[in-house]
Amino acid sequence: MRNNPTPELQELDRAHFFHPSTHMRQHADGESPNRIITGGQGVYIEDSEGKRSLDAFAGLYCVNVGYGRQEIADAIAEQASKLAYYHAYAGHGNEPAIRLSERIIRSAPAGMSRVYYGMSGSDANETQLKLVWYYNNILGRPEKKKIISRWRGYHGSGVMTGSLTGLELFHKAFDLPRSPILHTRTPHHYWQAEEGEDERAFSRRCAAELEEMIQQEGPDTVAAFIGEPVLGTGGIVPPPEGYWQEIQAVLDKYDILLIADEVVTGFGRTGAYFGSQKYDMKPDLITVAKGLSSGYLPISGVIVGEKVWQVLEQGSDQMGAIGHGWTYSAHPICAAAANANLDIVDGEDLTGNAKRTGEYFQQRMHETFDDHPLIGEVRGVGLLAALECVADKDRKRPLDPSHKVGPALSSACLEHGIIARAMPHGDILGFAPPLVINREEVDRIVEGTRKAVDQVYEKLRAENALSAA
Ligand SMILES: *Cc1c(COP(=O)(O)O)cnc(C)c1O
Repeated sequence: MRNNPTPELQELDRAHFFHPSTHMRQHADGESPNRIITGGQGVYIEDSEGKRSLDAFAGLYCVNVGYGRQEIADAIAEQASKLAYYHAYAGHGNEPAIRLSERIIRSAPAGMSRVYYGMSGSDANETQLKLVWYYNNILGRPEKKKIISRWRGYHGSGVMTGSLTGLELFHKAFDLPRSPILHTRTPHHYWQAEEGEDERAFSRRCAAELEEMIQQEGPDTVAAFIGEPVLGTGGIVPPPEGYWQEIQAVLDKYDILLIADEVVTGFGRTGAYFGSQKYDMKPDLITVAKGLSSGYLPISGVIVGEKVWQVLEQGSDQMGAIGHGWTYSAHPICAAAANANLDIVDGEDLTGNAKRTGEYFQQRMHETFDDHPLIGEVRGVGLLAALECVADKDRKRPLDPSHKVGPALSSACLEHGIIARAMPHGDILGFAPPLVINREEVDRIVEGTRKAVDQVYEKLRAENALSAA
């Protein structure tokens, strides 16, 4: 029998590998799990000890077409042997990137014009900010530079994008957020609405507060508003009724650009091709990444609307070629992977599956958890869902964070073969399975999660932890 390489790999890992979003000291000292992933097929992944789990978070909501798609592997291999790399500076093109641009614009919301490529959602949002500043400089409005984001929005981990991200964890000890980034209210009706305030009234209040902020700052100083159609990493929160219409009206009134961060919602996840289409948003700029290649290779896109594009053209006439470029922008192999991925998304109508199987998933989640004493809110749209845990359901009291109920739930799910994510803020368990998922697999997620939730609830009760908050 072959020796199991896992212990050796784990030792090397703990000694040399700096992991993102990981407790560094516990990892180094072997106090937290070190799972080595070796393979994947469909909605399942496998680790080096042979354990198979149903990945109900699609990696980091990116593996939309599922694991092990040979079509994408073949497209990558073919492009790698034909032309692995050439840059895209000074008008150089390659066929995969050209074809990808045409199909993205064809399927994007109305008014979109060009696609700029990067390698990650973070770098794409960095590009967005630079374009917004450039745009206002070309228009002769050097003061119009502030960007408004939302608390609990997620837009990346760079210096400016980490500032846009409205989660303290991403700011603390990094000297973030930087100027000129501002944050406005989280549109989460469950926690933020006042007594008796319905969703529409709450949406109007969110918009009124935004308008107040704009007036206080001076409308001539506010350049753009950035938001995810559905809040993602901040807790998977669909917008309250009427939210985007109310926000859009305020932005239009003060000539403020809207950047729709569709890194999670782009390419089918909500049951519409883009979240902007689902919620009738009119973005000037759109960010895409994760679902663009289903994570098979890193690639992101900044989709630029016609209104901004016209000004960028003027900018080149005034100042010459735009001074912005990444070495790997429009990388041919990444673009080939994205095309092969979108062939699957379109060919198998995964957007339609996200809608239909998504409706089934939401229904199963509601009937299983609506009355559960640990769950205050069951929410979601398409193939995005979340369970919000509370100490006292009737009086809507949050849990004491020291019990770390989110991580406890996620570990308990794993024991039942289900990967669900403890979201970084609050006691929220998140779901975003691959868009290829079927009803039987949905049932498996819901049943495994039910066992995990019951188990954690019983433990909290036994420890008298539900009255403490
Ligand atoms: C993941 C994510 C990003 C950042 O993408 P990276 O590829 O991790 O840099 C930006 N915006 C949203 C909405 C995301 O979910």
